[in-house]
Amino acid sequence: MDDLFIEDEIIDLRDKIAHHSDLYYKKNQFEISDHKFDKLVKRLQALEKKYPQYKINNSPTEIIGSDILSSSKIIQHKIRMYSLENAYSIEEIKEYIEKINDNRTINITTELKIDGFSINLYYENGKLQYATTRGDGFEGEDVTINIKTIKSIPIEINYNESIEIRGEIYLPKNEFVRINIEREENGEKLFANPRNAAAGSIKLKDSNVVASRKLDSIIYSVGLFKNAKINTQKELLEFLKKLGFNVVKYEHVTNIKEIINQCEVWERLRHDLEYDIDGLVIKVNNFDQQQKLGFTSKSPKWAIAYKFKAEEVETQLLGVDFQVGRTGAITPVARLKPVFISGSTVSNATLHNEDEIKRLDLRIGDYVTIIKSGEIIPKIIDVNYEKRESNSKDIEFPKACPVCETLLMRENDGAISYCNNINCPAQIKKRIEHFTSRVAVDIEGLAEAVVEQLINHKQISKIQDIYHIDFEEFRQYEKQGSKSAENLRNAIENSKTQKFHKILFGFGIRFVGAKISKILCSYFKNVDEIINASYEELVEIEEIGEKIAQSVYDFFRNENNILMINSLQDAGMKMISDNNIIEDTLSGAKFIITGTLERHSRNEIKEMIEQNGGKVISAVSKNLDYIIAGENPGSKLNKARKIESIKIIDESDFLQMIGKEN
Ligand code: AMP
Ligand code: ZN
Repeated sequence: MDDLFIEDEIIDLRDKIAHHSDLYYKKNQFEISDHKFDKLVKRLQALEKKYPQYKINNSPTEIIGSDILSSSKIIQHKIRMYSLENAYSIEEIKEYIEKINDNRTINITTELKIDGFSINLYYENGKLQYATTRGDGFEGEDVTINIKTIKSIPIEINYNESIEIRGEIYLPKNEFVRINIEREENGEKLFANPRNAAAGSIKLKDSNVVASRKLDSIIYSVGLFKNAKINTQKELLEFLKKLGFNVVKYEHVTNIKEIINQCEVWERLRHDLEYDIDGLVIKVNNFDQQQKLGFTSKSPKWAIAYKFKAEEVETQLLGVDFQVGRTGAITPVARLKPVFISGSTVSNATLHNEDEIKRLDLRIGDYVTIIKSGEIIPKIIDVNYEKRESNSKDIEFPKACPVCETLLMRENDGAISYCNNINCPAQIKKRIEHFTSRVAVDIEGLAEAVVEQLINHKQISKIQDIYHIDFEEFRQYEKQGSKSAENLRNAIENSKTQKFHKILFGFGIRFVGAKISKILCSYFKNVDEIINASYEELVEIEEIGEKIAQSVYDFFRNENNILMINSLQDAGMKMISDNNIIEDTLSGAKFIITGTLERHSRNEIKEMIEQNGGKVISAVSKNLDYIIAGENPGSKLNKARKIESIKIIDESDFLQMIGKEN
């Protein structure tokens, strides 16, 4: 394959992984199964290994998906928290054991892999000091108040040394069902599964609600901990039990057969447990051996997760509905004869796009096999052609938008059809919801139902209308009143001072997720600079590929979008980056860093460049001012040598430039 395509694929994979990771860890939602997600990561890992020149620092293959929301209090972990490597077959488990064991006697613990929300509990002098989420593995969000509502987590323990205790918060399955029934009655959105419900609950602001949800905990490891008497995982788990923790179910095993047996037994018995598990964790028992094996940048080499296969059932396809997304993308959704699978009744499944329907050769009336991918979203994986009846019907993909009737467009590269009517009501509703969501501009009180009310009463038809709502009128709406009007008015008023990168994310530019928004805002000073950026300037930015650059460029060429921005500015939104340039020493000079530097990581240097008003770009061209070359520089250095205007400097030259060294 052409290298260019490889780079594209790598960037694309990175974007995708970042997107799904944010969705999962920050919003407690998902679009693809865990398995598919792991596959994306594995593919990226393989490509990065083969083409290290395209690998960037902080690639998602090296970092843990972060659950940290920007508004929260952050605490650094004393010892890092890791993720786990996954295996999907007994074969892979056998290979793993053989690889790590080189003829030693097998000494392993198998533990249930709790499908909950990981947590870090810090005790000092026998008292719980704080509780944090896993975050990005280095630091997590402070959730102490909510954790204190969980009865199985002791506030005091009989152990005076400083200790970090790690485990999982989960919602018992029956609690999950009870809460969802309650939510349905209240007209609230249902939780997709117990894991999402637990993750959502842990970050709630009202700890009374959290307390009412009966969260529970299961503990399986420690971070900071020194105890010469404890030398194995088994001893550790028993020690934690004695301290009063609810410790994970485990077995200590000494042969491969027993490991496999454990995997198979729990794959069958999992549904009898009162909580969800998504696999088994196989851990080297002996701490000395663990230490010898060490870690990758993301997970311990001394452990692996055996992930259960998703369950399959057959049901009938009754019809296909077509939904319009925020970007106008049309998604077919399968309507199924309701069927019970992996603990819940399912009546819909996503079909992604037209090609997926063709690939499956699917017809209405067909009998289909569905799985809950990653135990969550149902997906059709197979069609039983033998059972196809003569009256089965073709699935007709609409030529026009099912909501506004605009003729659909097809992207030249993709399988997806779009309604490109910027005023399409279906899209408007979703765009407004996106703009006001917590991860974007964060207007509490503009829930889906309220947005719908405002649209129906013709108060809003575009994002900027939010800032011109007539609250006298709003007060009269059903279920609303002076109080909710006042609250909403305040929330809207507060949103005007929202950070620029969150506003930019709220615009809902295709391919521009929370992370890319942040990157754009650290590179450009304000919205005008972004509007005026050329395609070349955009694509130059390190993390921004052609697809994103084109999408950003196009977005700001659209008159309606510019009108929106002007109107938001008139309403008082600033849209200025707070990338805290301390000094403008470098006054916009462009840099590339190549090779390994002696004293600082590339990221640290990058930060220094940005803090001093410089920019880091990705490609060598005449626009480049400096290339900072370290040990084993890449091909970029050779390229740079050919362009006279580019200055080649080393780390200490750079530090001198910004006055850090003389
Ligand atoms: P993943 O969510 O795919 O990164 O899987 C790794 C996570 O599994 C860890 O970060 C833990 O939160 C969780 N986990 C659940 N049960 C266990 C266990 N028994 N041992 C270690 N990790 C566990
Ligand atoms: Zn439409």
